[in-house]
Amino acid sequence: MRSPSPSLLRRLRRGRRRLGGWLGGWLRGPSLELVYSERYQLDLPGNDALRGERILSALDGAGLLPPRAVHRAGLAPFRELRRVHTDAYLDALSRPGGLLEVFGLELPEHAVERAMTGQRAMVGGTALASRLALASGQLAANLGGGLHHAFAGKGERFCIFNDVAVAIAGLRAEGFAAPILVVDLDLHDDDGTRSIFAGDRSVHTFSVHNRTTTEVRGEHATVVELGANVDDATYLETIRRRLPPAFDAAQPGLVYYLAGCDPAADDAIGDWRISPAGMLRRDRLVIELVRRRERRVPVVILLAGGYGQHAWRYSARFFSSLRPGGQAIEPPTTAEVTLTRYRRLAGEPPAPERLAPAERQTHHGKQRRPPGDADWELSFEDLLPNLGGPQRPRRLLGACSRQQLELMLERTGLLERLRQLGFPQPALEFDLEHAGGETVRVLAGPDGRDELLAELRLRIDRRSAPDLALLRIEWLLLQNPREAFTPARPHLPGQEHPGLGMLRDVIALLVVACERLQLDGVLWVPAHFHTAAQGRRAGSYLHPEDEGTVRALERAVAGLPLPAAAFAVEQGRVIDDATGAPFAWRPMPVVVPVSDRLRRQLAGEEHRRRADAAAAAHAFRLLPRGTSSPEER
Ligand SMILES: [Zn+2]
Repeated sequence: MRSPSPSLLRRLRRGRRRLGGWLGGWLRGPSLELVYSERYQLDLPGNDALRGERILSALDGAGLLPPRAVHRAGLAPFRELRRVHTDAYLDALSRPGGLLEVFGLELPEHAVERAMTGQRAMVGGTALASRLALASGQLAANLGGGLHHAFAGKGERFCIFNDVAVAIAGLRAEGFAAPILVVDLDLHDDDGTRSIFAGDRSVHTFSVHNRTTTEVRGEHATVVELGANVDDATYLETIRRRLPPAFDAAQPGLVYYLAGCDPAADDAIGDWRISPAGMLRRDRLVIELVRRRERRVPVVILLAGGYGQHAWRYSARFFSSLRPGGQAIEPPTTAEVTLTRYRRLAGEPPAPERLAPAERQTHHGKQRRPPGDADWELSFEDLLPNLGGPQRPRRLLGACSRQQLELMLERTGLLERLRQLGFPQPALEFDLEHAGGETVRVLAGPDGRDELLAELRLRIDRRSAPDLALLRIEWLLLQNPREAFTPARPHLPGQEHPGLGMLRDVIALLVVACERLQLDGVLWVPAHFHTAAQGRRAGSYLHPEDEGTVRALERAVAGLPLPAAAFAVEQGRVIDDATGAPFAWRPMPVVVPVSDRLRRQLAGEEHRRRADAAAAAHAFRLLPRGTSSPEER
């Protein structure tokens, strides 16, 4: 067996020293390392977005989750996804409707982006868990993954990428050549995984499920179809009878265990009747078989299926049973664990002893963690951003918590206005991980969770103007998805739905934010003529030449209502007399000044003179409606 890369091992050993305390307790039984990422929180039909978090919360509540016990999953690069998935499929995913077949419904753009990112993180998590299990020779669990319905060239039933197949391909690329056994006890057929490995004798797939959904068998596959309504006795007897021979035939050097919880009787979509005790017995059977004294094969555990609000509890029981003594905890109810989470959100500080030694030193102003380590191992407190802990404060622009923003939106009456528009429980969502900026979303809430009402992406911009720090709006969407366009709220370019009529409020809030953060002003780059025209009323163009250009455009479309003017520009019916070509839209940043120096700069004589000169220099001409532009002729 080839080991992971030396640098990884070095990091592991470093981590192992830090983990020393709790491993001391766990080494007598199998050690379990956990992998998770906030990106796993996908709001898909039937899916509990907080499944992983609730498992961590329950283990933590039982004292089974010491500091630095959780490793963060990174996004799997496309380089690795391409080892399994075809380029044609990967290409198609990013096209409009690309996820239609996978999800059976058209998702809004932001949901597509989140689903892709979330599942890429799960693939990264399974790859990381594989390396951890091989390095320790023990167990590692990814609190996500098990996306077994993803084939090489298509995705099905909510599975976009096959995490197990990509992880195995990664290990093979690194020279790990031992046979591998994939034990899939999710309620559903392991169709994607089985099909991917149909021609690979080094990977044995084992699946016990309700209905077989692909005829593909392959040379090394165990396929057991049990139909509907299966009970504990049948299920456990099947596993006892069929798994040992599969194990003996495979002689694996590594086992993947998809511990899907959808066979459980209370599963939201499953059709089996397995009791909680039966589910735990099943999990223990698998681990006991592969960890028997003479074998001790490393195991990668994946959550796989499990639907509804209670699926997490089976995994919490299973993981807690892996400690020495093997006694499973009885996890709290979903309501209790959720309440604990909200108490934390309210800002209760963690007890100092919960922090890892390095953090405690930081708290005493001594020594910081080595910088390169930041992404490697994370403590439960690192996950508390979702739970409100102070370790890595998850605040918008480092300043504003979700609670504070919600309170402000309540105080300013914006949430009340949304309620009056027919959205009784608008929900606020932070997404601070995006490379392009920090995002705040307002979703319609429980009765229409996926309906997006507002989306605002912000970042601090120190490059657009020398010596200025600006609050840059990278993206702003304000829409009422339940309203039709009317003459009063006409369709404008770039709109899918009518607006909310709250642009002014948003700008005002951002101006207040600039004052608090001592930034010079709010900046955005209009993408359409109508937003540019609105922008000129709200602020000024950062560059006087742009202001001149827009004034000249406004001259050319004078007399047209704003929507008609916007479409005239959009359709290329505004011709630049100097070139004879239609005016091509270009980025023209608008700023609302907050600091005195920016205010002075924009109001200065120099700015006005250059804007006037640019306005005079441009001559635009409007072609009548129905006329095509010269370029199109
Ligand atoms: Zn399933």
